[in-house]
Parts: sequence; C-alpha cells; structure tokens
Amino acid sequence: MITLGIDLGSTTSKAVVITEGVLCAYCILPAGYDVEKTANTLVEKILDKAGINLCQVDKIVATGYGRERVLWADKAITEISCHAVGAHYLNPNVLSVIDIGGQDSKVIVLNSKGEVTNFAMNDKCAAGTGRFIEVMARTIELDVKAFSEISISSKNPASISSLCAVFAESEVINLISKGENRENIVAGIYEAISARIAGMVRHLNIQSPVMMTGGVAQNAGLVQVLEKKIDKPIEVNELSQVCGAIGAAKIASDLMKR
Ligand code: ADP
Repeated sequence: MITLGIDLGSTTSKAVVITEGVLCAYCILPAGYDVEKTANTLVEKILDKAGINLCQVDKIVATGYGRERVLWADKAITEISCHAVGAHYLNPNVLSVIDIGGQDSKVIVLNSKGEVTNFAMNDKCAAGTGRFIEVMARTIELDVKAFSEISISSKNPASISSLCAVFAESEVINLISKGENRENIVAGIYEAISARIAGMVRHLNIQSPVMMTGGVAQNAGLVQVLEKKIDKPIEVNELSQVCGAIGAAKIASDLMKR
C-alpha cells in the first residue's frame, strides 16, 4: 500500500510518501501564492523522489491551511490530528507535542494510543511563531539559521517585555542602539517566545515525553530555552518539519486498512 500526505502550511508545503508503513520519501517547498499550483508541483517532486507514479498511490490526505484547496485529495484532516499521528509515528511513547510553524503554534496532548485528548492553539498573532523569529532575525541582520544558535553563548538574556511582534521589534531596535550584544538579545527573544508557549503548556498540564514539531523545532537555541521554561526535556526529530505530512500519509494508510 502506498499513501501520500500533503501539508500545505502558511510558510512551507510538505509532502511525504509512506510505502507499506515505511516513510520512503519527503519533500519541502516554499508555500507560494498559488496553493493549488504549489500542491501540484509538490506532488510531481515527491513522486519523482519516491520513484513512483500517481496511479500507484492508493490514498491521499491533505492537511495544513491550504488543505481544502487540494480537490484531488481523498480527505482533508486538521493539522492537530496530523501532527499527533505524525509524532506518534516518529515515537510511539510521545504524550505531548509542541508544534511551532510559520504562523501558528500548538500544544497537543496525546494518550498512550497517540489519540488527541486536548490541545491549545495560537493562530491569532505572530507571538510564539516562526514569523516572529524571522522578523527579529531580520532586525538584527542574521539569517534564521545563524539566529537559531547564537543565543546558546548568552550569559545574560536581555529583557523583552512585549509579545507583540511590532512592539518587540521596537524593543530590539532600542537594545541594539544601547549596544546590547546579539547573543543576549536573541536569548531575550527566546525567553519571550518560550514564556508564551509555556503559558499554553501550563494550561494543559502536559506529560513527558514531549516532542517538538514544525520548522521551528530546528531552532536549537529556542528549544534549549523552552526546555528550561517548561522544565521538561524536549525531543526533536530530524523529520520534525514534515511531521504533519507524515501524519496525513499515516492517516491515509489507516483509512485504506479500514
Ligand atoms: P508552516 O507549516 O506553518 O508553513 P513550518 O512548520 O514549515 O511552517 O515552519 C516554518 C518555520 O520554520 C519558518 O518560520 C522558518 O523560519 C522556520 N525554520 C525552518 N527551518 C529552520 C531552521 N533550520 N532553523 C530555525 N528555524 C527554521
């Protein structure tokens, strides 16, 4: 059985092929303006990568912001469900998922079977999202990758009180003008983001093991600060960014079995 999972996110589009329960290919592209065009390109690329053609695919599940736009998908499923199933696929022991993507953040509570029992989501403002980090990185003239790790050498995180991206940017500009070093500014930004996520975590009273998913999981500096804030180790898988697409492909396999 071959299934395809597509996650059309706000910032990136991801696709995964699962063959007989095993992940055999994945692909990540920028989201693009035209969701349908991006989805078509994504499918062409993933089929090419997996060395299969569309006729061999038994089922397709779409998730993410653009999921309803993929009319050729067999089913559209929410990101909450897909990240939960994807995280459970990557580690069946996981009981909590923190997903930080380009424009939203979610905390998901799972039971031992990997089913969602509770969740919290912020998709109303940039605070605690990848976009917030991108804006801050631009302000201090670092690319997102360099920005990710620089905080690790900070001895004294700067205080950033605003969680609004616009006001926080003014605070950062102010800190730069006062001569504060970049390490401390970035560490301060991570403290502010982590405080926001920790609020959602406290509300849900999450259990370990905790897995972080979404593109921002690759931000080692933020993960380090967040672990301290929630007082729990956070597991990051190298496939964290495609976790939602993995969940979609896995759900497609489960639908076939039924
Ligand atoms: P969405 O599903 O909402 O489109 P993703 O889960 O793909 O979002 O995550 C996109 C975010 O991940 C972007 O804000 C991007 O800056 C961030 N990101 C991607 N790769 C890295 C990396 N190597 N280090 C830090 N952040 C990253």
